[in-house]
Amino acid sequence: MIEDEPAVPPPTEILCNQCTAVLPVEQGALTAVCEFCGATNAVDKSQAVLHFVVRDTLRETDAAAALRRWMGGNETVKNLDSKATIKPPVFQLWPLWLVRADVKGAERVIIKPAAAVSVLDTTRITIPASDLEPYQGSAYALEPTVPLNAVKKWLAADQQIGEGMIKEMALVHLPVYVFAYSFEGRPYTAVVEAAAGRVFADIFPSKQEMPYQTVAAVGCLLYFCAALIPAAGFLSGNLTGLGAGVIIYLIAALVMAVPLFAVASYISAKI
Ligand SMILES: [Zn+2]
Repeated sequence: MIEDEPAVPPPTEILCNQCTAVLPVEQGALTAVCEFCGATNAVDKSQAVLHFVVRDTLRETDAAAALRRWMGGNETVKNLDSKATIKPPVFQLWPLWLVRADVKGAERVIIKPAAAVSVLDTTRITIPASDLEPYQGSAYALEPTVPLNAVKKWLAADQQIGEGMIKEMALVHLPVYVFAYSFEGRPYTAVVEAAAGRVFADIFPSKQEMPYQTVAAVGCLLYFCAALIPAAGFLSGNLTGLGAGVIIYLIAALVMAVPLFAVASYISAKI
């Protein structure tokens, strides 16, 4: 038997399609008229703008642990987890537009920020329907500043998803812990979303690639020079010269590998 996704509860309120004001929905009503801008909004799921909050499953200590794990991982500079000074986080609900569309028979879920929250890479976010609860209002919620019409225009122009392909539109509040931390005197921000514990940061102390590239460049140059020895032996015109050149080359190659490897290991231990 195929199990359906848990049903999302019927809306008790929707958002005005035109001005995103919150509109209460009478039980069984098919439309809701906006008292602010006068727009008539369909309550039908394919046209109504629903309003949800993602259930938060992470406590502050869990979020802090997720941040430490990320800091101790491979993406960031070595020992960031022990060297960073982390301040207590701020809990917020960040608004996102969630659109379910039918694209050639397959469902596509598109998530776009509904406010200026650039640190959040929304392509990395998945929100299962089972995690959604009707939004009841919250003091932690950030106001949406990106109008739904802007998202619809972007969908039509950039994603070839027209109005008719949209099955559901919702404003979804994602619970996040915003951490401010400092490392070597510089301030940084990282965000841990409180549903799955994913960490988001756009600028952070990362591993540097420059030293590795320098070692690689020096290595290439050394091996190129070494390869000139058998070439010179060959040009000397006799087989003994070539043989000696090849032997010298092989010894040089082995000897050079030792310091190159040592420098590379030193760098990777350091950063
Ligand atoms: Zn309105």
